[in-house]
Amino acid sequence: NVGLNSKTYDNFALDEGLHKQSKRGDVKACFVSLARNNDLWSLIGSIKHVEDRFNSKYGYDWVFLNDDKFSEEFKRTTTALISGETKYGLIPKEHWSFPDWIDVDKAAKTREEMRQKKIIYGDSISYRHMCRYESGFFYRHELLKDYDYYWRVEPDIRIYCDINYDIFQFMKDNNKKYGFTISLHEYVDTIPTLWKVTKEFISENPQYVDKNNLIDFISDDGGASYNLCHFWSNFEIGDLNFWRGEAYSKYFDHLDKNGGFFYERWGDAPIHSIAASLFLSKDEIHYFPDVGYFHGPFNNCPINDEFRLDHKCFCNPKDDFTFRGYSCGEKYYSSQKLVKPSNWQDYA
Ligand code: GDP
Ligand code: MN
Repeated sequence: NVGLNSKTYDNFALDEGLHKQSKRGDVKACFVSLARNNDLWSLIGSIKHVEDRFNSKYGYDWVFLNDDKFSEEFKRTTTALISGETKYGLIPKEHWSFPDWIDVDKAAKTREEMRQKKIIYGDSISYRHMCRYESGFFYRHELLKDYDYYWRVEPDIRIYCDINYDIFQFMKDNNKKYGFTISLHEYVDTIPTLWKVTKEFISENPQYVDKNNLIDFISDDGGASYNLCHFWSNFEIGDLNFWRGEAYSKYFDHLDKNGGFFYERWGDAPIHSIAASLFLSKDEIHYFPDVGYFHGPFNNCPINDEFRLDHKCFCNPKDDFTFRGYSCGEKYYSSQKLVKPSNWQDYA
């Protein structure tokens, strides 16, 4: 263990000094991108960022998943940019459709109500399939069978800084199971009953809650209510076996049976975050202050000047979201009992 939870966090020493590894390790890991053919042109920018800053040095594979068949243009354009092997998978129909216990008329009524209330993606069927797929199915795809870790990459993201260590090896060596860059509050209108349904599951299955959990990140009152904090799941570096395990599988089934993916608009981000915060030990969750990252409209930009220059970052630290009001960064630091960087208030 490299002492990540100590004060060294303050100066980002977690990169070079602590675990510099320029060679690729032996971890079975890959990138995963869920995408449509017409996401190609926004996705290749993301791929180029990830390759230039990280993967060209390590050559990890990249798995693409789609509910439709990938075009030849999509495949050859992405393969040309990627240093590892590329694999293209079709999502089975039963993982991307209404389960038979869903009342489709009731689901349609919800979409209409959410359309009128102008809730983001509130009227979309495909967005709901996407959220359900990312919540409960991507890690079961046959192309992911041979991998233990994944890094999720979406269209139109940026990686702002060099990453000079094998981040998957880091996850494995330090027993990390969920890593994130940005956290924030969820729109309550998309998940009005998610916490109630989660509490039902917990009271029936208390054995799944880790003794050393991170409940204080997701609740301000010891679990009575959800404070809406979640890790933004467009970036995730995680352990696939956590999702494949018994606790999460049962939790997902419970949520899926409830129907909230369709009768509300539950996102994979709050679901993954609640599960990680409850079923993992808090030291299995990791914040990457060193991974400069953008997904509209938020930035994770290292606020340590020396670190930014050393790693050729191109972000403005004034845009860092970590300690802003709508972020859950401060909550994360306090729930993990981490010491905030000495200059954090300059960026709040
Ligand atoms: P946002 O970040 O929440 O605004 O959602 P995105 O539009 O970025 O979608 C999330 C991820 O799912 C991205 O990787 C998209 O490429 C992918 N995605 C969204 N909708 C679909 C869909 O209908 N089919 C497929 N194959 N991928 C989708
Ligand atoms: Mn996105």
